[in-house]
Amino acid sequence: MHHKKPPFIAGNWKMHMTIPEARALVSAVVKASPGLAEAEIVLIPPFTALAEAARLLLDSPVQLGAQNLFYEDKGAYTGEIAGPMLADAGCRYVLVGHSERRQYFSETDASINKKVLAAFRAGLKPIVCIGETFEEREDGRTISRIESQLRHGLVGVTAEAFADIVLAYEPVWAIGTGKTATAAQAEEVQARIRDNLAENYGKEAAACAIILYGGSVKPANSYSLLREKNIDGFLVGGASLEADSFIQITKEAIKAYKEKQ
Ligand code: PEP
Repeated sequence: MHHKKPPFIAGNWKMHMTIPEARALVSAVVKASPGLAEAEIVLIPPFTALAEAARLLLDSPVQLGAQNLFYEDKGAYTGEIAGPMLADAGCRYVLVGHSERRQYFSETDASINKKVLAAFRAGLKPIVCIGETFEEREDGRTISRIESQLRHGLVGVTAEAFADIVLAYEPVWAIGTGKTATAAQAEEVQARIRDNLAENYGKEAAACAIILYGGSVKPANSYSLLREKNIDGFLVGGASLEADSFIQITKEAIKAYKEKQ
């Protein structure tokens, strides 16, 4: 089993990329990957491009993830995709509870929790997204929101599972807006997330948990964000659609990670 390690850089392509476009982007990342071997890289294309991406990633250290799954393993759920199908398509990871799913598709901590458990059943590693809205931050409710998302979204998850789970702190106000949290703002919340994990799952689980930051990450801010103690990598949206910017973000992250060791 290939273990996750920092810096961990995941590219969420959202609802973008035809199969030929996906082929070009995956190929460019694979071509650059020998120079990025110190990072763990996960590409997260739309469902329609998974099979083609999996084919191109065979024998590559670059991993494949999906953007969503349903919480049942099979059945009469028209339009949904099950965990075992994603594993079969070559995925190792799956995003769960992205803020766009919470916002536009009514996902709740309860349904997200079911999806986390479904991912584990299928042998997939969930990348669980949490984060506060602008109003919650303004009202001073950032930490209580994050703690509530962790408490309700991770019911039934054991301390051992933290070897296989990735958390992504994504302040909703920073996603796709060009407004990156400052390194200090991101670190403040990520340190609290790790403290919360230590309280609830023990120090060992907290220490091995990978906690990503997401929200308008670009080549220009990758280095300063990753220098922070509790930022282990990134979930990148917009800037993952161009091979050059995604590769540059990864290079800057590797440099920052080495320097903070
Ligand atoms: C995301 O999709 O998780 C994300 C952080 O998007 P962006 O980088 O475009 O803000």
